[in-house]
Amino acid sequence: MSEQYKYLLDESRVPKAWYNINADMPVPPAPVLHPGTLEPVTPDFLSVLFPMSLIMQEMSPERWIEIPEPVREIYKLWRPTPFFRAHRLERALETPAHIYYKYEGVSPVGSHKPNTAVAQAFYNKDAGTKALTTETGAGQWGSALAMACNFFDLDLEVYMVKVSYGLKPYRRIIMNSFGADVFASPSDRTQYGRSILATDPNNPGSLGIAISEAVEVAATSGGVKKYSLGSVLNHVLLHQTVIGQETIEQFEMAGEYPDVVIACTGGGSNFGGFAFPFLHKNFTDGKKTKVIAAEPFASPTLTKGDYTFDYGDTAQMAPVIKMHTLGHTFIPPSIHAGGLRYHGMSPQVSALVANGDVEARAVHQLATFEGALLFTRAEGIIPAPESAHAVRVAIDEALTCKESGEEKVIAFNLSGHGHFDMASYAEYLQGNLEDFAYPEEEIAAAMKILPDVKM
Ligand SMILES: *Cc1c(COP(=O)(O)O)cnc(C)c1O
Repeated sequence: MSEQYKYLLDESRVPKAWYNINADMPVPPAPVLHPGTLEPVTPDFLSVLFPMSLIMQEMSPERWIEIPEPVREIYKLWRPTPFFRAHRLERALETPAHIYYKYEGVSPVGSHKPNTAVAQAFYNKDAGTKALTTETGAGQWGSALAMACNFFDLDLEVYMVKVSYGLKPYRRIIMNSFGADVFASPSDRTQYGRSILATDPNNPGSLGIAISEAVEVAATSGGVKKYSLGSVLNHVLLHQTVIGQETIEQFEMAGEYPDVVIACTGGGSNFGGFAFPFLHKNFTDGKKTKVIAAEPFASPTLTKGDYTFDYGDTAQMAPVIKMHTLGHTFIPPSIHAGGLRYHGMSPQVSALVANGDVEARAVHQLATFEGALLFTRAEGIIPAPESAHAVRVAIDEALTCKESGEEKVIAFNLSGHGHFDMASYAEYLQGNLEDFAYPEEEIAAAMKILPDVKM
């Protein structure tokens, strides 16, 4: 019997609308607050940072939001992305489970991030923005936005966490190749960066600090520059829902429907993009798919963080959001999944976890790399260390089926490839990696300085 390995959709099947889970949230997320007054923000305050079209999407109650044709045209460069049945992994695990994965690593920069970068660049260009500012950790988001700004003829300033700027030059060079300017953060270009360098010239930087710098540059530009964020916010997760919508269609081709869907969570965007269309079916169509968010033990936002109001950045300039948080001053250990180290989490994903619609699961670093290589040796793709967390949880679910004899259908999102992360794989192969304990005291300390919100 010949088996089918991949399910491909024609270009005409690129979705025509994004799915907005705001329309179906069992418990809506709390309002976003102004960092100074701690009162709900007005669109006016947000319009310093974002174009009005994106602010309206952030707050929209509409279930479907049409994708502008110029955005769909660019999506067609790599979308629809392939969907695979992992027959070879199933055989390696000797599991009766059916394992499927959606592969976002075929985008030009190797991850899901261009799905929102292209949309955000489009709406900014449309609103007359001249330049965007943003932060990046290891560089995945910066390279996605650099590509998108290049397509829409926008300038881009990227504040890149200083340790990564030095140690991970290749993604920086990708950004430069698209014409973006990249600065090591903390930098001397902002008041906040200069204040940090004055007391601590060797500060290695963090995502929270880089966000503060990018926000400051946009907020003080007199409207010429706007700020762009690659995860966490509702409109970002919205733009990623093309992933799950395509997957549902590809499952129809395969004649199956998943019992379990899994994605990794840093700020929640590839998770939301993959899982929200399945949650839509759970909420409105009587489906009972189990939805799992996979995160690292060393940066355990959903499994160990409080669900409470916190600042989005270190300098307390960004809006205050009710979310699972490790505290805005928490700097996670430098694990080998840079994209999963943010202190906070999407307010939508947080609300769904708090309400029991989504299960959160933490995995250790060594088990994650072990799972990633098992996957690589069976399927041939080297996962991004971030995506490897989803791979690990999928393998664990399949091994549970092996014990119980259940023939469950398991699907996960492979959010990117790991070709720029080979230094991390080298460390693992050489036996230099260890599991980081969950940094309980540090999180407890960071939780003591949350904003004092009376809600
Ligand atoms: C950035 C990144 C992530 C984490 O970000 P989310 O917003 O949680 O999706 C995961 N996987 C890859 C490949 C990334 O580049």
